[in-house]
Amino acid sequence: MANGVLCDEYSRVVGWPDVYAVGDVARWTHPRHGQQIRIEHWTNAVEQAECVVRTVLNPAAPQQHAPIEYVWTEQYARKIQITGRPSGRPVAVADGSGARVGVLYGDVHDQLAGAVTLDWPRAMLAARSVLARRAGGYRPRPLARAGRRSRALDRLQIYAYDPSKL
Ligand SMILES: Cc1cc2nc3c(=O)[nH]c(=O)nc-3n(C[C@H](O)[C@H](O)[C@H](O)COP(=O)(O)OP(=O)(O)OC[C@H]3O[C@@H](n4cnc5c(N)ncnc54)[C@H](O)[C@@H]3O)c2cc1C
Repeated sequence: MANGVLCDEYSRVVGWPDVYAVGDVARWTHPRHGQQIRIEHWTNAVEQAECVVRTVLNPAAPQQHAPIEYVWTEQYARKIQITGRPSGRPVAVADGSGARVGVLYGDVHDQLAGAVTLDWPRAMLAARSVLARRAGGYRPRPLARAGRRSRALDRLQIYAYDPSKL
């Protein structure tokens, strides 16, 4: 144990295959990143627990915990949301009013790698959707249900595929 309880990609404690660790205490191998990470946020604790429950109920098909990182927090009545890996080339976006802002981060291939938004849940849904699609788990709920699309959202979509069009 160092920086948490070391687990494999199935959240099994290394050396103790019948024991699982989830949430703040678990340092596990993220299959897509190929790194051992530990996340101290609510969403990860819930998703990792759900994953372990599926494995325990069906050990023949163990579930890897491979989340697209997501954090939300309310600070002084402002909603801050973070997804993916917000590092790399930053691009600032805002809606028409300027009240909703975000920063998108591109990876070395200029693909969306992470995003931070302030008071802009719809843009966050779009970013999570793009990251989920890239990870192979696309669920088309956000934009399909979005009534009005802002220019910034359109730019977010474009950014995910061709940043030169920004
Ligand atoms: C002040 C604060 C603000 C936060 N704000 C946010 C936020 O805005 N957004 C966000 O995503 N995350 C936030 N977090 C982080 C979030 O609370 C944790 O990531 C989340 O609670 C982790 O869940 P967990 O089940 O892994 O651990 P915990 O919620 O810590 O649960 C562990 C439980 O184990 C119990 N326990 C400990 N030792 C023993 C023992 N020996 N025997 C029996 N029981 C034991 C504890 O009492 C506790 O109930 C915040 C954390 C703090 C401290």
